[in-house]
Amino acid sequence: MIESVCVFCGSRPGRSVAYAQLARDTGRSIARRGWRLVYGGGDIGLMGILATAVLEAGGEVIGILPRRLLDREVAKGGISELVVTATMFERKERMISGADAFLVLPGGFGTLDELLEVVTLRQLGYHDKPIVLVDVDGFWQPCLALFDRLIGEGFADPSTRRLWSVADGAEKAFALLDAAHARGRGGDWRAREDSNL
Ligand code: AMP
Repeated sequence: MIESVCVFCGSRPGRSVAYAQLARDTGRSIARRGWRLVYGGGDIGLMGILATAVLEAGGEVIGILPRRLLDREVAKGGISELVVTATMFERKERMISGADAFLVLPGGFGTLDELLEVVTLRQLGYHDKPIVLVDVDGFWQPCLALFDRLIGEGFADPSTRRLWSVADGAEKAFALLDAAHARGRGGDWRAREDSNL
């Protein structure tokens, strides 16, 4: 079952207003389900919009921010818990271990790094939590095309396609998470006991 959702998304708002709308819808949908948001802890870009939406809808927010980025990413006030880490690596590990599922919204290199981290860790069996790419306006299509290329060229197994799901918006993304939540009753998709995470 899902209690916490980790959302990776841009520290900038992006050009299209569709991205901000997606961040707001995502935040509201998390809060409405009584799930906890785990995210990077900043108050900038889509990250800030997302956390504000969860808080305004009465939800719980855990922000995880490295000490060095407290000013740069503007540590968000008023959240339920702000975890300050020593390093970026520790931040990522705590975001990953503290959530039951991952949503990946549009973003920049940091978001891409986080996406690849959870995909590769799942590929290696360190966790078995759902990963949903939220593909508004086809944002993730070039990345998915590259994934196809890796597989087509023999650098990854075709079965790796099962490591992630793609949703064309918040509604579909939460339908996928609701299904995972239902399957999780008695299921074994949570972090495996023998994993490092
Ligand atoms: P971006 O998508 O580049 O706007 O960044 C989104 C978030 O990812 C920000 O909170 C960044 O600090 C974070 N980030 C950037 N690089 C990394 C990294 N190597 N590992 C983990 N998080 C990162």
